[in-house]
Amino acid sequence: MQVSQIPEPERFRSQDYLNVLDDVPAVERCRVTAAAMQSMHASAARHYPLEACGLLLGKLNATGWDIDEAREVENLNTERAADRFILDPQAYQAVDRELAGSGREIIGIWHSHPDCPAKPSPTDLSAAWDGFAYIIVSTCQGIAADTRCWALNDSGERFAAVPIEASLADKQAQESTAGARP
Ligand SMILES: [Zn+2]
Repeated sequence: MQVSQIPEPERFRSQDYLNVLDDVPAVERCRVTAAAMQSMHASAARHYPLEACGLLLGKLNATGWDIDEAREVENLNTERAADRFILDPQAYQAVDRELAGSGREIIGIWHSHPDCPAKPSPTDLSAAWDGFAYIIVSTCQGIAADTRCWALNDSGERFAAVPIEASLADKQAQESTAGARP
């Protein structure tokens, strides 16, 4: 679905917010399965106008992040649930234990920005970890309107935009469907 315009509160144009973003995009890619993307969008929409958050599961390799699952985790911030999230650390540890030895791991975090652009805030920057993918879903009028991925740049001082691509498995499935047409 399309939303004609995502609101951009004044603070997103302030120097504090502009300083969060690197002009140079990341060389890595964030490949997301359609299932993971749909699950994130559904959670984000369901919690609108509050923030939803969760974990990104999959594999990290030299070319970027391969995300095959987005798992919703409770936002513990009930006081400012509209613009802040605190991911439940116990849920994090439980998922971390569950994945131990599976070859898959927690490789990022997603959260929603109700009625705000899918751009990270200074708060998001202060909480960011090196090597993690950060997906932000902008929710607007109750639907997921824009989805972007970010990761700390080499200096670790700003977020670089990471292009989001379909997962290899989804691309292959699409190609085989297209090839089967007469
Ligand atoms: Zn945020």
